[in-house]
Amino acid sequence: MFNLKELLKKTDFTNEEIIFLLGLKDPEQCKLLQEEAYRRTTALMGNKVYYRGLIECSNICTSNCRYCGIRKDNHQVRRYEMTKQEIIDQAVWAARNGYASICLQAGERRDEKFISFIEECLREIHKQTVSDVLPDGVGVTLSLGEQTKEVYERWAVASGNRSNLRYLARFETSNADLFSMLHSAKGKYEKILDHRLECLKYLKECGYQVGTGVMIGIPGQTLKDLCMDIRMFQQVDADMIGMGPYLMSEEADLESLGQMENKALFQLSLNMIAVTRLVMGNINIAAATALQVLHPEGREIAIEYGCNVIMPNLSPTKFREGYQLYDHKPGLNDDPFHFGLHLEERIQSRGREVGWNESGSSRKWLMKQEKQEQLPC
Ligand code: SF4
Repeated sequence: MFNLKELLKKTDFTNEEIIFLLGLKDPEQCKLLQEEAYRRTTALMGNKVYYRGLIECSNICTSNCRYCGIRKDNHQVRRYEMTKQEIIDQAVWAARNGYASICLQAGERRDEKFISFIEECLREIHKQTVSDVLPDGVGVTLSLGEQTKEVYERWAVASGNRSNLRYLARFETSNADLFSMLHSAKGKYEKILDHRLECLKYLKECGYQVGTGVMIGIPGQTLKDLCMDIRMFQQVDADMIGMGPYLMSEEADLESLGQMENKALFQLSLNMIAVTRLVMGNINIAAATALQVLHPEGREIAIEYGCNVIMPNLSPTKFREGYQLYDHKPGLNDDPFHFGLHLEERIQSRGREVGWNESGSSRKWLMKQEKQEQLPC
């Protein structure tokens, strides 16, 4: 139907071509896709893999996404909140140990107490991480759900470092029916796809590097849906993509739907990463921890398929049990102080190096900034 070798030379793809690439199963063909995605990643983004030190600040969530293990209605989870000092300590440790960027993640809350708590943490993190090595302080990625534009702006100001500021808000699927199936818990915090996309627009207007992403292998999802997800990445002009396999959680509301068989789900996830790289070019793509559930070296293999960002978990181990969005989450006992170094050895074994003390902004975002600076006043 398509000549794969010829197809992989292209930079502009039709939907039919994308669907063909996503559906590859033959090991030889998957290898060709992997090699081209790897070649383009290193050609466009360089040889480095960038760390974002993940701090899971709290598992309290006001939302009820049906696939999620920490949804509000799961009363089996012991809820926790890290204190301001605990969050700052982890951020400062990260900055002093070569992580130029951290990620603050938590369940979704929109109350003023939470909003100002994050603001205070950001201000203090900035103050305490400015150094000769990081003159603008540690970079921050926020992953705190749907908020108003005013809140995004407040947090951007508090970060004190807009040149290294990111937000991750995955839209999970561009198929409105699937989105509704995943999020159909009604109530005050009901999720609506259009609102999620509006949030991405607000984030862009506030100057964040915008990260989004989807779940791969959602029950009922087709290759065409995944192709449309990639088209949505283009439409929202994403700077970063973080996506992973759809994994079941026994404490969620969708257990009866099951999930794809592990091997097929793993290959489909890798194909999605590779094709996203081919279509989107010089953006950042994160290797999701969830891939590690499907294969012991899932994240490292994802680097071979086009990822260039990894998010080592720096949350204190005592909290990790409580932050399981899906079952069998790996790394619950990984020592945050040594994990990044062990991971570095595994990254190096794949011919790549870690960008210690480098913010690792996507080339796409940097080029957009340069263009803006060149515009006449
Ligand atoms: S996916 Fe996020 S917003 Fe939804 S229930 Fe889980 S933590 Fe809350």
